[in-house]
Amino acid sequence: MGGTMLALHGGAGTIPEGSITDEEAEAYHRGLAACLRAGHAVLARGGSALDAVTAAVMALEDDPLFNAGRGAVLTTDGRPEMDAAIMDGADRAAGAVAGILGPRNPVLAARTVMEKSPHVMLIGEGALRFCREHGLFFMPETYFLTDRRIAALDAELARRASGAADNRSDADRHGTVGAVARDARGNLAAATSTGGMTGKMPGRVGDTPVIGAGTFADNATCAVSATGHGEYFIRWAAAHDISARMAYRGETLEAAAQTVSEALAARGGSGGLIAVDAAGNVALPFNSGGMYRGTIGPDGVPRTGIWREALRPGDP
Ligand code: ASP
Repeated sequence: MGGTMLALHGGAGTIPEGSITDEEAEAYHRGLAACLRAGHAVLARGGSALDAVTAAVMALEDDPLFNAGRGAVLTTDGRPEMDAAIMDGADRAAGAVAGILGPRNPVLAARTVMEKSPHVMLIGEGALRFCREHGLFFMPETYFLTDRRIAALDAELARRASGAADNRSDADRHGTVGAVARDARGNLAAATSTGGMTGKMPGRVGDTPVIGAGTFADNATCAVSATGHGEYFIRWAAAHDISARMAYRGETLEAAAQTVSEALAARGGSGGLIAVDAAGNVALPFNSGGMYRGTIGPDGVPRTGIWREALRPGDP
């Protein structure tokens, strides 16, 4: 037994303080707090870590502020292609989808792969057929599209055509959402969902659905969900590296997470991650200018942050 804990992120990157208005910052705080409450409600009624991360990530996917589900960024073809994964720390069961457009909540698609198929990852058309067969709720392409993401793609394609330097804020370039949780029985789980990177090649898959890169959970060590430049997180098996440091070297969650975040930065991999261990400790390191993030413990008070400031308590 023990206290419940849930942490989530809404993407990391350079978020210059002037690049979002005070009202927009407030909207992010409110959005993060609402998603924290959605996950905490599951834990507070004795629900599993797996159900809690599913609920929190579904709420993040439904919020168009974040790059996942509705509001996902676009490929060079002008279409969203979404990746998602979920992992149960109790038995390392995992499910993932990549390159999908249709299911309203890609994290549910990942969970269905985990629970209803003999596989870990399904992609593209086969994944969609599987989701239809299992009755997942689909939305038309227009549901996912937002003016902000269309403008961001237009600006990026124009920039590439002109050869100008890339000085966009990372909030327009990429993003991801994710949640990690520890339930009252000590089980851990992680889930991550993303549209990937603005102007990515059609067919590009990032770290999010790659187990051990952007998503990982094992009750013996930790649950991790990452956000950032996915290619680096894949190449350095970032999420699993944190677990391995704890398992093989006896590092604390905080030390392992911080070391991996700094090592990624040294190699050019900007981003961050959220992690929780079996005792309910959380680590939220990022090597970029900011990371939309928050935590909610047994007191049910959502605590949210964007830059390096201390997390701000909100209404329970
Ligand atoms: N990690 C995501 C990807 O590379 C993007 C992000 O988190 O910003 O697809």
